Amino acid sequence: ADKKPHMNIVFIGHVDHGKSTTVGRLLYEHGEIDQRVIDQYRQEAEKLGKSTFEFAFVMDRLKEERERGLTIDVAHRKFETDKYYFTIIDAPGHRDFVKNMITGTSQADAAVLIVAAPEGVMEQTKEHIFLARTLGVPQMIVAINKMDATKPPYDEKRFNEVKEQVEKLLAAVGWKDVPFVPISAYKGDNIMKKSENMPWWKGPTLLELLNNLKVPPKPTDKPLRIPVQDVYSITGIGTVPVGRVETGVLKVGDKVTFMPANKSGEVKSIEMHHEPMKEAYPGDNIGFNVRGIGKKDIKRGDVCGHTSNPPTVAKSFIAQIVVLNHPSVIAPGYTPVFHAHTAQIACRFEELIKTLDPRTGQTKQDHPDFLKTGDIAMVKIVPTRPMVIEPVKEIPQLGRFAVRDMGQTVAAGQCIEVEKKTL
Ligand code: GDP
Repeated sequence: ADKKPHMNIVFIGHVDHGKSTTVGRLLYEHGEIDQRVIDQYRQEAEKLGKSTFEFAFVMDRLKEERERGLTIDVAHRKFETDKYYFTIIDAPGHRDFVKNMITGTSQADAAVLIVAAPEGVMEQTKEHIFLARTLGVPQMIVAINKMDATKPPYDEKRFNEVKEQVEKLLAAVGWKDVPFVPISAYKGDNIMKKSENMPWWKGPTLLELLNNLKVPPKPTDKPLRIPVQDVYSITGIGTVPVGRVETGVLKVGDKVTFMPANKSGEVKSIEMHHEPMKEAYPGDNIGFNVRGIGKKDIKRGDVCGHTSNPPTVAKSFIAQIVVLNHPSVIAPGYTPVFHAHTAQIACRFEELIKTLDPRTGQTKQDHPDFLKTGDIAMVKIVPTRPMVIEPVKEIPQLGRFAVRDMGQTVAAGQCIEVEKKTL
């Protein structure tokens, strides 16, 4: 009954500023790196003639594994403090950060922005601050990393310079009261315990800041929405869709409808981690058996809701997008793949309504001929196949999307208004 709340955190920041090292340090110090992995690495270190086995070796190996593609997608890592269960949604590659933020199975409750002290604010630092804001991340912590590598080392003056740079960026997009901490992920300063190398720092450690985060409210009062990740057929039970409850509450006995499949049935059982349960809440990853639905009736990308308030299928929708990274321009007729919740559907840019000034939100240009990298715009989108999407104001979890083309995230956005398709 007195279970600790869950907190999903995402690590953001410019490439090489130390996101993975900070995550690795947190997991390592909490004993969350598998003992077998550590033993294996220790043996390898010995073979290589390294007399002392260190955290750095673990980090380098984890990094190699990542580069070989072993943990390339959203990597889920967990640790627990006296206050929270933390799940870390690592954002190793900048390219897929946005896609992961939107289609990852966990939405971030807070972001930890890592900025390397020697380098200071870089391009992706700015982009990520802006994106975290646009994507609705509610809380942020800034860790100024690599304090061991400033000149001179652990320099208070450099920390304050970088802090000021970052504060300016935060203020520009409307972030307030964001706490800072100077750290060295590599050496372990101010991560779990106060650094002896920075006696000038009287503030909290990174761990204390994580523990000070506020508990995210659960969207239980919103309509039920469960994007389908997979569908199984289990002997003796029947059809079992699997997915994460994004909003609302699912109970055994509920009448549910899957859209756009437009198939309905009754919930006979719900399971999480092989345990039966009577009700499921936002954040729960569940499998549930629905009487009246066959395995072939529904698929990944469909969304389950109550029959009394089924998911919205869009004929078209109005969206606000930010063009992140497009090699040329986006013109009307462009049809890339949209990733929203678990769906991946080609959608056409039907109309470029206007571009907006990112600072003020005011109209910059009506009906531009094209959009290019850096533009923020209101657009009309037409899915080429039926697709569930909801206005972000009503159900934020089902209103965000990433636009992918040629293996990259070219844009990200949110749905403002839906023109419903009649089924
Ligand atoms: P990411 O791309 O943001 O995930 O960065 P990584 O965690 O992979 O770190 C990039 C490089 O910076 C690696 O070579 C790390 O060893 C190094 N690094 C990370 N944290 C620190 C630190 O606190 N001090 C120093 N000197 N180097 C660091």
